[in-house]
Amino acid sequence: MTSATAPIPTPPIPTTPLLTAPMAAALEQYASWQEPLFEDLHRHPELSMREERTRGIVAEQLSEFGYAVQEIGGGVVGVKENGEGPTVLMRADMDGLPVTEASGLRYASTHTQQDADGRTQPTMHACGHDVHMVAGLGAARLLAEHLGDWSGTYIALFQPGEEIAAGARAMIEDGLLDKVPAPDVCLGQHVLTTPVAGKVAIAPGPVMSSSVSMRVRVHGSGSHGSMPHLGIDPVVLAAAIVTRIQTLVAREIAPGDFGVVTVGALHAGTSANIIPDRAEMSLNVRAYSEEILEQLVQGVQRIVRAECEAARSPQEPEFEQFHHYPVTDNDEEVTHAVRTALVAQLGEERVEHMDPVTASEDFSILPDAFGVPYCYWGFGGYAEGRETAPNHSPLWAPDMQPTLRTGTEAAASAVLALLDGTG
Ligand SMILES: [Zn+2]
Ligand SMILES: [Zn+2]
Repeated sequence: MTSATAPIPTPPIPTTPLLTAPMAAALEQYASWQEPLFEDLHRHPELSMREERTRGIVAEQLSEFGYAVQEIGGGVVGVKENGEGPTVLMRADMDGLPVTEASGLRYASTHTQQDADGRTQPTMHACGHDVHMVAGLGAARLLAEHLGDWSGTYIALFQPGEEIAAGARAMIEDGLLDKVPAPDVCLGQHVLTTPVAGKVAIAPGPVMSSSVSMRVRVHGSGSHGSMPHLGIDPVVLAAAIVTRIQTLVAREIAPGDFGVVTVGALHAGTSANIIPDRAEMSLNVRAYSEEILEQLVQGVQRIVRAECEAARSPQEPEFEQFHHYPVTDNDEEVTHAVRTALVAQLGEERVEHMDPVTASEDFSILPDAFGVPYCYWGFGGYAEGRETAPNHSPLWAPDMQPTLRTGTEAAASAVLALLDGTG
C-alpha cells in the first residue's frame, strides 16, 4: 500500500487510546525536551523561505531520531521506513512573520532578519508554527522510539514559506515527489485561538478558504489640483472601484456562499494640489471554492476595466496576482478515521467540530501534488478563560502547555491510526 493509486487506508475504528502505555509514558517525559526547544524556536523566528537556522535544528533532531533526512526546497523531510504498510505524511510549517513581538513572554523574540529586499525586519512566531514544529518533532520521535507498535512508512515533513504561499510549491519544484516514497495520505494541523488549549477541532469538507491577492494599477493623467478638467483623476477612479467592488459579494455571490473581497492598500498621489497620474491598490479575495474565487477575481477585473472606461483612463489597467492559496478541503473518509482516532485518544469531550476558518493554507498543495486525500485540523492554544490574541497579532502567546502536548498527541494518534498498528 505505498503507491498513490492504492485505496485509501481504512483502518479498523479504534476504541482504545492509540498511544500504547509506554508511548504515553514517553510523551510525559518529552515536556523537558520540548519546552526548551519551543522556547529556542520562539526566540529565533525566521522569515518565509529564509528558515536556515530553523531548518538546521529540525534536520539535526530528525537525524538523532534515526530518520533518513533530506533538505528539499528550503524544507526538511525525514523518512522512517518500518516494514510493510501504508505511507503517511504529516506536515508542519516553519516560518515566522515580520512582526514586532509584544507578547511580554519571557522567551519573546528580539530577533531580526534581512528580508528578500535586504531590509531588516523584526521577526515573530506570531502564527504558532513553532508549536507545529515541536509537535511534529514530538510525534516523529515517539514513532521512531516505538517501532514495534506500528508498521509502514512515516514521512515527517517540515515546510518553509507557508505565510507567502511559496513553500509547498518550492518543495515540489525541488523534486519532493521523486525524493520521498509516495504517501497514501497527508495530514496537517494548526494551533488556533479556538477551541481552548487541550482540545482539537476537526471537520470534513472545506475548513480553510482559497485565497488570492491582487495588485491593480489604474492610470489617469496628471494635472494641477485647480484644473481637474485638464487631467484624468485616478483618485476618483480608484474610489469608484473600491465602492463598486463591494457589490461583488453583496450582489453576485449567493447569500449561502462564502466570499470576501478586501482592499487592504490604496495609494495615489503625493500632495493636496496635484492630481496624480496613477493609483495602485492591493486586494485580497477569499472563497471556499476555486469557482467562487475565480468568479470574484473576474468580477474585480471587470469592474476595474469598466470604471477605467467610465473615467476615460488613457491606458489599460494592470493586474498582478500573488499569494495564491488553494482551498483546504478535508477528505470525508480520512477525516472520519482521524476524528475517530482523536476521540479514542483524547476523549469525546476534547474533540470539537471545526467551523470553517476564513484564513488560508498552502498545505493542500502537497497532497494535491501526490494525488492523495488529506485531513487538516485545528487545536487550541489558549487556556479556558484567558484573553486571546489571534494568529498574526504581536500579542499572540499560546500557553506552552497543554498546547505542545496536545499537538504532539493529536499528531501521533492520527498518524498511528493510518499506519498499520501491530501492537
Ligand atoms: Zn499565518
Ligand atoms: Zn499559520
